[in-house]
Amino acid sequence: MKALAKMQLTQLKGLFSEEQISQNASDLAAHARDESAHEESPPDVIVYVQSADDVSKLLKFCNKHGIPVTPWGAGTSLEANPVAIHGGVSLDLSKMNQIIDLRPEDLQVTVQPGIVLQELNKRLSKHGLFFPPDPGAPCTIGGMVGNNAAGIQAVKYGPTKNYVIKLEVVLANGDIITCGSNAMRTSSAYNLLHLFVGSEGTLGVFTEITLKLAGIPPEVSAATASFPDLSKATSTVVELVQSGLSPAALEIMDPVTVRDINAFKGLKLPEVPTLFLEFRGNGPEVTEDVRVSQEICMSNGCKDYRVAMGREERDKLWEARHHSYYASAAANPGMRAIVVDVAVPISKFPEMVEHARRVLADKRLNGPILGHAGDGNFHVAIFYKDEPKEKSKAHEVNDSIVFRALELGGTATGEHGVGIGKIHFMETEHGKSYKLMKQIKDLLDPKGILNPGKIFH
Ligand SMILES: Cc1cc2nc3c(=O)[nH]c(=O)nc-3n(C[C@H](O)[C@H](O)[C@H](O)COP(=O)(O)OP(=O)(O)OC[C@H]3O[C@@H](n4cnc5c(N)ncnc54)[C@H](O)[C@@H]3O)c2cc1C
Repeated sequence: MKALAKMQLTQLKGLFSEEQISQNASDLAAHARDESAHEESPPDVIVYVQSADDVSKLLKFCNKHGIPVTPWGAGTSLEANPVAIHGGVSLDLSKMNQIIDLRPEDLQVTVQPGIVLQELNKRLSKHGLFFPPDPGAPCTIGGMVGNNAAGIQAVKYGPTKNYVIKLEVVLANGDIITCGSNAMRTSSAYNLLHLFVGSEGTLGVFTEITLKLAGIPPEVSAATASFPDLSKATSTVVELVQSGLSPAALEIMDPVTVRDINAFKGLKLPEVPTLFLEFRGNGPEVTEDVRVSQEICMSNGCKDYRVAMGREERDKLWEARHHSYYASAAANPGMRAIVVDVAVPISKFPEMVEHARRVLADKRLNGPILGHAGDGNFHVAIFYKDEPKEKSKAHEVNDSIVFRALELGGTATGEHGVGIGKIHFMETEHGKSYKLMKQIKDLLDPKGILNPGKIFH
């Protein structure tokens, strides 16, 4: 659907230089979808902004004319979060990719939103520092703040929200505001900062992000633990977490996932339920954590605990884990997938995974189960043939898993955000708070131009 009249397009082009605007078919196609299997939807035009003033100018214009604007970082989301489903402008922030101010003495960095996570961490490593949340995908810091991304190390270090201390935000009317400060703690008035984190481009556009950082620990040790069945693996997770251990990663994979990554990456992991663990810290601390975790795994029926693998083998394993989504997609050619992202309190994790396994089996659908077990968060890629009956079966499975997670005190989305795929769970999850959220959205964006169709219908 065209959201821009020809005349408006001409006026918009007049506001920016030629290279900042694209209607090139391949650029539009690249911005028509993220990494999910949701329907494609190209924007009418892409604007590559280079400064907060550019963003302000664009939003003033679009707000005046009621044109949808959807921020775009790297487009690696899994719920169509950055896709312009109502057309209009895809506001591409990838050219705003500089480190503005690195202050190792304060363990802080201020960046433009388009800097890519891996590039930032490469630059920070020279100072012995890093930004811990890691979705594994080549994403931007702006997109991570947009989705409050978490990833494999969040079990020790927490999600993106824990690291954002200050934001420069351009509001829908073009006003530029700053929230937060460089102090490491504050009790100063309402916490607007965290209102914006995870807002998926629906409340404002971040143009400067200040992050606190962590020191790179001297020792890292990884291990894999193989179990005869999934329930033994999930109950081990609970015991590991309850024991007070603090692994940097505690991931679970079911046999289907292990089979898919073996095939995709040429690995030879035993195709049984498997935990991936990683410990970081000083030498003795890591050695002790590994010893205790091995003891807990073995007492829970673990058949094989492999530890202290070399750096190369460890990197290969994590790379395979990061690519598991693509590995499973490759094993299911021509199929679509709904990606489950529930999280529940840790004591409910075994029951939740068992529920997912059961409903998948009942409906005879293939759904590899894997996830950030240490945080009670897991994913199922529910694969289905693109035909109405199969699609509705896949949605029934998804609904059953998510509603069960909500009954258990959990959430529909642990890290991927709402996008379009999780909207229909929001009322159940948030009750009256969801109405209040909509009032906040209406206050900040009365014309509803910012990423319309996300979080709310
Ligand atoms: C293989 C794979 C594995 C993944 N694993 C994980 C995982 O383990 N954990 C996890 O959390 N995620 C995971 N993801 C999802 C995704 O990588 C993250 O959510 C990531 O943070 C998105 O960043 P991006 O730069 O691609 O943002 P985009 O997808 O471009 O945008 C994300 C959202 O933020 C908004 N946005 C972007 N930039 C701005 C800005 N400057 N201001 C305001 N809003 C903005 C967009 O409108 C959109 O709503 C995975 C994705 C893939 C493909």
